[in-house]
Amino acid sequence: MVKAIVGANWGDEGKGKITDMLAEKADIIIRFQGGANAGHTIVNNYGKFALHTLPSGVFYDHTTSIIGNGVALDIPKLMKEIGEITEQGVPMPKILVSDRCQIVMPYHVLFDQYEEERLAGKSFGSTKSGIAPFYSDKYAKIGFQVSELFDEEILKEKVERVCGLKNVMLEHLYHKPALDPAELLNTLHTYRDMVAPYVCDVSLFLDKALKEGKQILLEGQLGTLKDPDHGIYPMVTSSSTLAAYGAIGAGLPPYEIKEVVTVCKAYSSAVGAGAFVTEILDEKEAQELRERGGDGGEYGATTHRPRRMGWFDCVASKYGCRLQGTTDVAFTVLDVLGYLDEIPVCTAYEIDGEQTTDFPVTAKLERSKPVYTRLPGWKGENIRGIREFDKLPENCKKYVEFIEQQIGYPITMVSNGPGREDIIYRESPLKK
Ligand code: GDP
Repeated sequence: MVKAIVGANWGDEGKGKITDMLAEKADIIIRFQGGANAGHTIVNNYGKFALHTLPSGVFYDHTTSIIGNGVALDIPKLMKEIGEITEQGVPMPKILVSDRCQIVMPYHVLFDQYEEERLAGKSFGSTKSGIAPFYSDKYAKIGFQVSELFDEEILKEKVERVCGLKNVMLEHLYHKPALDPAELLNTLHTYRDMVAPYVCDVSLFLDKALKEGKQILLEGQLGTLKDPDHGIYPMVTSSSTLAAYGAIGAGLPPYEIKEVVTVCKAYSSAVGAGAFVTEILDEKEAQELRERGGDGGEYGATTHRPRRMGWFDCVASKYGCRLQGTTDVAFTVLDVLGYLDEIPVCTAYEIDGEQTTDFPVTAKLERSKPVYTRLPGWKGENIRGIREFDKLPENCKKYVEFIEQQIGYPITMVSNGPGREDIIYRESPLKK
């Protein structure tokens, strides 16, 4: 059985925590898209970790962690991450890397930086990890598959061909130093030796695992609104963030994905540029939520950039859940809101004088204004440590129930702290 854990919004919803928690009962956890540009923060009995490439299942010794073919694999970063967790006392996890996974090349990172420099004020706010140049090359069919590292003839020819192409751009567009094919080939030999112990025909491995009845988790990065097709294009990421893509990015049949757990945070945050309808414009108010948010503040796990803060957006989240094919919503970071007298919730957008609850295309999103309902808070009541929904303060329950009604998808998990055990399972009237 396959379960996907994905985000409804802009990312940073707390997917890492939910995956880490659900991994206890899983056999295999797979990353199926994205790269080391974003990160999950996980708190468990080994400590606090920021994972960028490894799936959030690496902390258990009964699980296999897989880097699927859909991922942008930065091999030195993967090695560094394995080193970091094992140094902190986590037993060496069982890791497999798909032989069809493509490699983030050193020049992808350079091109990412050069392009941001070139765009200057009009940049996309890239994390400069090489992700956009990586996926451009993948679809331009000049990417390097892990499998190709093991065929010297193919590798050598391709390195020369691709360097020739890249050097034209480096010289004429960016006015930067050229790539040396011999040096690049050497680098790829070191990559080959690093990754060799993990390489696997992942789709075959998964086919067998499914036949044996294994429990598989697909772990998404970012959220629906960063999807290149269904998100806030062009302020999106370069690979699909949707559960449906999990089938492709891992290499398993789409009909095997039986459950889609969509993670929604109890308020909003976003990184990078782009329309953000419920953004808190008062900087003092935003800073208060940012400081209290997440576990130790809402700052990027990779870049440490302060995140943009906003109120819960039912329009965006309903859309985010719909595109994911949500069977369950995990509603996270609810504990953070306990300092507010009342909590604004965006229930509709006003676009050109008309109200709608349907999420629009980007051009219209830029003109959307939030319509808020203000719900009473549960100020002064600490909800951390509560394990039953009925024990939550009345206004806190109402906040969850109101949002569930608005988005129309069942909230079956409520997370009230960063730890594995900070979870309330809930029966939802919307769950058939
Ligand atoms: P992801 O990329 O979706 O996994 O999200 P991040 O890891 O960037 O952000 C989630 C942050 O919130 C992390 O620091 C988590 O430890 C923290 N977190 C997750 N769930 C909860 C929760 O219910 N309450 C609090 N206070 N923090 C949480």
